[in-house]
Amino acid sequence: MQNVIHRNADVLVIGAGMAGLSAATALQKAGRQTLVLDKGKRIGGRMATRSVGGARFDHGAQFVTARDPRFAALLDAAQIAGVAVEWCRGFTPEADGHKRWRGAPGMSSLAGYGTEGLEIVQEKQVAALSQGVDHWLIRMTDGEIYSAGAIILTAPVPQSLLLLEAGGVLLDPALKTRLLAIQYERCLAVMAVLNGPSRLPAPGGFAPTQGPIAWVADNQLKGISPEPAVTIHATDAFSVAQWDQDRDETARVLLAAAEEWLGVGIQSFQIHGWRYSKPKQTDPHRCAVVNRSPPLILAGDAFGGPRVEGAALSGLAAAGAVIHADGPFLNL
Ligand SMILES: Cc1cc2nc3c(=O)[nH]c(=O)nc-3n(C[C@H](O)[C@H](O)[C@H](O)COP(=O)(O)OP(=O)(O)OC[C@H]3O[C@@H](n4cnc5c(N)ncnc54)[C@H](O)[C@@H]3O)c2cc1C
Repeated sequence: MQNVIHRNADVLVIGAGMAGLSAATALQKAGRQTLVLDKGKRIGGRMATRSVGGARFDHGAQFVTARDPRFAALLDAAQIAGVAVEWCRGFTPEADGHKRWRGAPGMSSLAGYGTEGLEIVQEKQVAALSQGVDHWLIRMTDGEIYSAGAIILTAPVPQSLLLLEAGGVLLDPALKTRLLAIQYERCLAVMAVLNGPSRLPAPGGFAPTQGPIAWVADNQLKGISPEPAVTIHATDAFSVAQWDQDRDETARVLLAAAEEWLGVGIQSFQIHGWRYSKPKQTDPHRCAVVNRSPPLILAGDAFGGPRVEGAALSGLAAAGAVIHADGPFLNL
């Protein structure tokens, strides 16, 4: 039986995190008809903000920094629009003085800055990609098939490789070796609503150097939560060891370990597991060209650097690779 194509797109961007959104915005500005798909309910990917009653938490990325002038310009514009706010210039007295930005009201808002007018379809999970003569076929988990002239794939690399494998896409062996080398830390994130202010001093972020906790942040001091609310990130080692254990029990262990910074009773808590939190290694190139014609480009923080800024720059590079697909490829 013939596959029924549900939608055609000039360029299909898979993933509405920072990499996918910055790629799609650049493509749209260049006049390319662009469609973004994401399996999640909200945009932002790992720039995630959650509300629990009157409390608000950033439970993925905590802040962004800018080293590249293009990303700094984006933050300046986002600040004028009111969706980026300087949080602080470091969390200890001996800090480097570099600006740390937060989203307003949370990190997911910052991810969404400048994406008005983009067509983004949420809760749409891609199951497999396969190559046609001059286009790509994209099969969804709900059985729908999309077709696109070019694809930018921004899922974490191990997930992207599974989508390619499921559709029988063959990779250049050297590229495959490069991509298989990319691994990610895991992170268990606890969000706790407190009965009163925490003991953390301003500006409200602390990175312990020992024990199961990598980071603890007071979202009220940060300026994003009207009510006392802390985010606790476990270390990679603790998260890997506890991954398959009872999540509520694990949250209680982390809350007990954070007691000295909390100092008050806990009203309620939730826990979220980030299987692909931050890349342990990054690729030397800003994106990976899997296929030139029709273009299939991999992007994300594994290419641009293990942060939000790196993801944004990788998305821009991927958009450039699609726009200039017929020209000579620069060393991206
Ligand atoms: C706990 C934690 C703390 C962090 N702290 C910081 C920090 O303080 N500062 C900083 O700069 N960075 C931080 N990071 C890293 C930062 O969040 C990432 O580098 C950045 O957000 C990655 O963006 P991305 O677009 O590459 O990937 P993602 O944000 O992961 O976006 C990928 C998107 O693809 C979607 N997707 C995946 N598979 C499919 C599929 N099959 N079909 C459809 N959609 C799919 C996902 O739903 C997701 O939305 C942190 C990350 C975590 C998890």
